[in-house]
Amino acid sequence: MASPSSPSPSDLSAYWMPFTANRDFKAHPRMLVSAEGMYYRDDAGNAVLDGTAGLWCVPLGHSQPRIVSAVQKAVATLDYAPSFQMGHPAAFELADRLRDYTGGRFSQIFFTGSGSESVDSALKIALGYHRARGEPTRTRFIGRERGYHGVGFGGMSVGGIPGNRKTFHASLLPGVDHLQHTHDLTRNAFSRGVPQHGAELADELERLVTLHDASNIAAVIVEPVSGSTGVLIPPVGYLKRLRDICTKHGILLIFDEVITGFGRLGTPFAYDYFDVMPDMVTTAKGVTNGVVPMGAVMVQPHVYDAFMHGPAGIELAHGYTYSGHPLACAAGLATLDIFEQDGILEHAQSVVEYWHDAAFALRDAPNVIDIRAIGMVIGIELAPRAGQPGARAFEAFRRAFADGLLIRVTGDIIALSPPLVIEKAQIDELFDKLGKVLRNLD
Ligand code: PMP
Repeated sequence: MASPSSPSPSDLSAYWMPFTANRDFKAHPRMLVSAEGMYYRDDAGNAVLDGTAGLWCVPLGHSQPRIVSAVQKAVATLDYAPSFQMGHPAAFELADRLRDYTGGRFSQIFFTGSGSESVDSALKIALGYHRARGEPTRTRFIGRERGYHGVGFGGMSVGGIPGNRKTFHASLLPGVDHLQHTHDLTRNAFSRGVPQHGAELADELERLVTLHDASNIAAVIVEPVSGSTGVLIPPVGYLKRLRDICTKHGILLIFDEVITGFGRLGTPFAYDYFDVMPDMVTTAKGVTNGVVPMGAVMVQPHVYDAFMHGPAGIELAHGYTYSGHPLACAAGLATLDIFEQDGILEHAQSVVEYWHDAAFALRDAPNVIDIRAIGMVIGIELAPRAGQPGARAFEAFRRAFADGLLIRVTGDIIALSPPLVIEKAQIDELFDKLGKVLRNLD
């Protein structure tokens, strides 16, 4: 790994950092200056094991040489091409390869620049789909409490995180309902894999259909596994039940697979894992191994066809300057090559039991009230300190980083989602460090 090439900046004031307590950070900065494979390096030259694959977005590990050279080649060949009314080969090739990666089940791919853009695009596609089919009154959306769907006004509206909604409450989309979340420590604590109890929570969707009438409902959007709100795994049968109710009432089902896509559960997508097919999938992050920002909406044929049967002209008045950016496409193609050529999913499947065993060995660590494990994701929930929600987990985050381990915390939940290329020795390193942190935390 290259050593730090430039000293840390002395003035941190100009950069307004996202989703970060700016005042606290700028008083105690944490700076990453390079990355390779499973490790970051900080500005003091310390190696930091990446327990979070960046922000869930680096399944193949950092600075993957084949991705680096693909992007270098692309930038020297076609740095940018307009996304409207013009094409370039790599965008068509990547869409084609992604279609193959889904086994042909998602027939068209709409490119965006991020997960938030993918979600807002999918919501708009849902509205356009119903309008094109002569059902323009289908405009309502249904999300879930504790769902996270990015920060666009659409995604925030269907999302269910109070902190994200608080400031913008009055400006959220009208006509959105939320199903209850499925997190249940009374019945499902320390489930390994998919928890047993709670499929009946999906029936709440029938109640909303009765209330509003199906003719007014466009789509239901859920994360198959909620990541950003603390690794919430749906109970056995829950997603299938949502699918059945949506099908019965002509409502589109959208899976937000921004974090579960590209192997996080050991399958290409979470719909493979749960064997439940949504009408649309939103994705981002791992599609380019996090190297160049990109997102995508993948749709089943009936969704695309509804648009293609309308009058001639622009079928979907929607898109972004950076939809299908040439550099992102190059990174995406190299990413898919590596998934296929290097047997990344097979590797993840070969370490997943070891990964879960190592996590569950922390079951008796102080303050641990739940451990959740599915594929290459672990959630460890800590009891909150009285009157200070989130403080205990944040302290764990700080101490882990000081000891050379990057974890992610959300409230009092620690979420672990390393690159899928992690080896058993690194799993040991990760849990040794985390165990030490948890045992010394008051
Ligand atoms: N949807 C889900 C499920 C996510 O986890 C995220 C990001 N963590 C987003 C949407 C938003 O993605 P982005 O930050 O790329 O806009």
